[in-house]
Amino acid sequence: MKLYPLFADLSHRAVLVVGGGAVAERKIAALLGAQAQVTVNAPVLTPQLRRWVSEGRIAHRADAFQEGWLERIWLVVAATSDRETNALVATLAGLRRIFVNVVDDATLSSFHVPAVVDRAPLMIAISSGGEAPMLARLLRERLETLLDHSLGALATLAARLRSRIRARLPDMAARRQFYETLFAGPVATLLRQGKSKEAGQAAEQALASASPAHPGSVVLVGAGPGDPGLLTLRALRALNEADVILHDRLVSTEVLELARRDAERIEVGKQAGNHHTTQDGIHALLLEHACAGRRVVRLKGGDPFVFGRGGEELEFLRSHEIPYEVVPGITAAVACAAYAGIPLTHRDHAQSVRFVTAHCRNSLDTLDWLALAQEQQTLAVYMGVGGLASLQARLIEHGRAATTPFALIENGSRAEQRVVIGTLANLAERASAHAVGSPALLILGEVAALAQSLAWFGQPPLGATVHDIRAAATGRRSSIPPAPVHADLLAAIHRG
Ligand code: SAH
Repeated sequence: MKLYPLFADLSHRAVLVVGGGAVAERKIAALLGAQAQVTVNAPVLTPQLRRWVSEGRIAHRADAFQEGWLERIWLVVAATSDRETNALVATLAGLRRIFVNVVDDATLSSFHVPAVVDRAPLMIAISSGGEAPMLARLLRERLETLLDHSLGALATLAARLRSRIRARLPDMAARRQFYETLFAGPVATLLRQGKSKEAGQAAEQALASASPAHPGSVVLVGAGPGDPGLLTLRALRALNEADVILHDRLVSTEVLELARRDAERIEVGKQAGNHHTTQDGIHALLLEHACAGRRVVRLKGGDPFVFGRGGEELEFLRSHEIPYEVVPGITAAVACAAYAGIPLTHRDHAQSVRFVTAHCRNSLDTLDWLALAQEQQTLAVYMGVGGLASLQARLIEHGRAATTPFALIENGSRAEQRVVIGTLANLAERASAHAVGSPALLILGEVAALAQSLAWFGQPPLGATVHDIRAAATGRRSSIPPAPVHADLLAAIHRG
């Protein structure tokens, strides 16, 4: 069930609560908090409910529920212990298009009451759509401990200054920056310490000295390989502060969802028909938005400085005197290796690792194949899916053993991750047999054999055969008699 969240203004609106027990009492307490005009319908009431009736805070009807009472009602809560009564109330309310909540019965309810973290005027409501109320409660408890109680006072202070802030800082970006320092700086600290008068004074001072113009800036951010858990805290912060986000197609939607809701998102992926696809187009966009005083996040898959053209973008920004920062990200080689259980270096199997790209500016021809073909080294090949056959041929031609293990990791770190393994001899064949698509990263070298035994994430690797494992562990000659080498490899790992 997918619900539409909303906050209802019930002040001085009539609400009917059917039921007079402890549950009804809790609901009525919350409704009174929202200044609703509550009528409770039940033959017997809890002592607290009776008190509210006698104080005139709620009205009481003791006789059996009557449809006519729904006449002027905005909202109904059915909280009796009798399912039939609850169902009747729900049906009759539904016929009149009045929203009804049946306590602990998601199917009979047309609205749900969320778990709430109350920092009035700030309010966080959590719902699991009735599917996992315990999870919603747990989350609420976490948020309760996370969010200081002074948040309410902070919101009230901001509300008090709001029109003056608007007048002093007509520029939206400048205003947003002011609010951010207000919410995260000394004013918030003073409020946490219960010093509301000092907090008010500090806020006034900050406003008086705030600069109405906001200089634009660019943060070059590495978004990692896709799993949002692999973002850095700095990246998250930049995403929260961004006015506009220029992102590559490679950046996962899960990561983009973490950005500020009202940040403008512009995809600058290299797709045909999109006039911003060229590097010059991206530069022009960076300049345009930064010069308009906006905080731009240039979000790239993996790390911005690993096959990401981040360097060119910084050179451009520098030449236009636009201030910038760089937030590194977890590059695909590092992430894919981790999520496939492949240590990129290993005391026994690889003393170095090379990050290589198999096309883009350095074409295959310009690579130092003799160096790449060396043993006891790991190659992490980016953007290689199209060129696997020639990569395979050239490496073998320059002396890399055909038995060298590989792992191809498609959609590394994402829920749809697939790992295809094999040896250099059957690299291109395996890739096409399993229809490996983009984005995929190739890890080639002795260590790739460990994908077999150390895999931990997602589906087990595809394409492994006993022969592969033996060949990988015995070394370059497949003619060497098969030995219990898998065990050797494991032993090597345990030796560290
Ligand atoms: N700056 C990026 C690389 C950009 S080049 C980084 O540091 O990771 C794009 C190539 O990265 C893809 O063709 C693919 O080879 C690799 N890649 C990026 N994300 C990947 C992922 N989730 N799984 C596998 N390969 C990935």
